[in-house]
Amino acid sequence: MRYRSTRQLDASQPANFCDILLEGLAPDGGLYWPVEWPRLDRSDLGDLRRTWARRGYAGLAHQVLGLFCDDIPTADLERICRRAYTAEQFDGPDIVPVSPLNDGLWLAQLSNGPTAAFKDLAMRLLAELFEYELGRRDRRITILGATSGDTGSAAERAMLGQSRIKVFMLSPQGRMTAFQRGQMYGIDDPGVVNLTVPGAFDDCQDLVKAVNADAELKARLELGAVNSINWARLAAQVVYYIASWLRVAPADDQPVSLAVPTGNFGNIISGHIARVMGLPIARLVLATNENNVLAEFFQTGIYRVRSAEQTFATSSPSMDISKASNFERFVFDLLDGDAAEVARLFGQVLPASGQIDLTAQGAVERARDVFGFQAGSSTHSDRLAAIAAVWRDCGRLIDPHTADGVTVGRRLRGPEPMICLETALPIKFADTLIEAVGFPAPIPDRFAGVLDAPSHAIELTGGLDQLKQILVERAG
Ligand SMILES: *Cc1c(COP(=O)(O)O)cnc(C)c1O
Repeated sequence: MRYRSTRQLDASQPANFCDILLEGLAPDGGLYWPVEWPRLDRSDLGDLRRTWARRGYAGLAHQVLGLFCDDIPTADLERICRRAYTAEQFDGPDIVPVSPLNDGLWLAQLSNGPTAAFKDLAMRLLAELFEYELGRRDRRITILGATSGDTGSAAERAMLGQSRIKVFMLSPQGRMTAFQRGQMYGIDDPGVVNLTVPGAFDDCQDLVKAVNADAELKARLELGAVNSINWARLAAQVVYYIASWLRVAPADDQPVSLAVPTGNFGNIISGHIARVMGLPIARLVLATNENNVLAEFFQTGIYRVRSAEQTFATSSPSMDISKASNFERFVFDLLDGDAAEVARLFGQVLPASGQIDLTAQGAVERARDVFGFQAGSSTHSDRLAAIAAVWRDCGRLIDPHTADGVTVGRRLRGPEPMICLETALPIKFADTLIEAVGFPAPIPDRFAGVLDAPSHAIELTGGLDQLKQILVERAG
């Protein structure tokens, strides 16, 4: 399995899985992507079903990750997967349960991990992979990331206690819930530095990009990424798309559809990968909130990013994103791997004009007919109505992001089962739950104390210069 960048014209010098494991952007500014896709035919899917039945989620992860990675010995990879996906970390042995809602809708529970969001599933694996590979290379890294609320806590919790990794996490000031803040800023450990930024998620992301653009500093800090541009994270997520399908599809050719709450295109891109590989996915339904940049693209063929000031603060805050870092990968596939055109569009056209117009390439039709994408957006009142309806009809509390997925999934469903991905537990979003059903979701014992934890965060008021200074001072 070999990887190249989405902007790499000459793909004759591809990289291995472990070469790009610790990387964010490729040196040319593109994103790593497989040179060729592994394929899953019907008998492979049967094989995965048997593995899953015998060896559970960790066994399934081992087999699927083995398709993407041939430079870790298989016994080591298995051990890594077993350590990542334990019953203790995921609130029981049944990792990624899928429950029926009503009307042919299902809920894939991706949020039972240590920080109650789907990001734990990838981050747990990433932490174990990093520790393994850093040990093998006798290296250390500095992780610099940006979070809209859930990536940060998932990364910090997963990496905590790993001596070779130091985490610096930027988060938008005042845009996260009390539970999210407690989960992150409550961590008191020299290996974790939380920094709050005045502005939105995209401002945090811009700072990360600016530090990465400083090649000298990047090398000095041995900077690594855990944002969803990291390839291993996407590979890890493919596992739960397959696991969700296995639970709902009784036969190996049974198609399902999936509804995925989206802001950064980080989750649904793994659904795209699974589908390209051959998982029988009828439609991939992309759901945005009022920040509908991606829904707009799939409806018009024009990708028009917004500035931080034009990004609404909504009640599904982890999707308040107006520039989707992973989208370039999808456009690469949409343009049949035309790296020169991707480099022009994302390296020149988008920075200069703030938009990419793919109407002439028939993007809407191609995304729908070739890649199965459909999209819609949801509003605050849709979210409240979906939370209330799922509670009333199914006796289950869902979080506002999941509610965006349920809203759009219901709207765009076909005859096949529709699996809505639960991206967080509702305990993180008490105010919205109270507004929707009149009470907050009860907090399980394993999260007791999160809300009262003393806060450890540095206010980053001095922009890039202050950030660089803090990194240099504290990364050693
Ligand atoms: C990160 C996150 C999202 C958005 O995921 P992307 O795939 O990165 O757009 C949605 N919901 C929740 C709860 C999240 O934490």
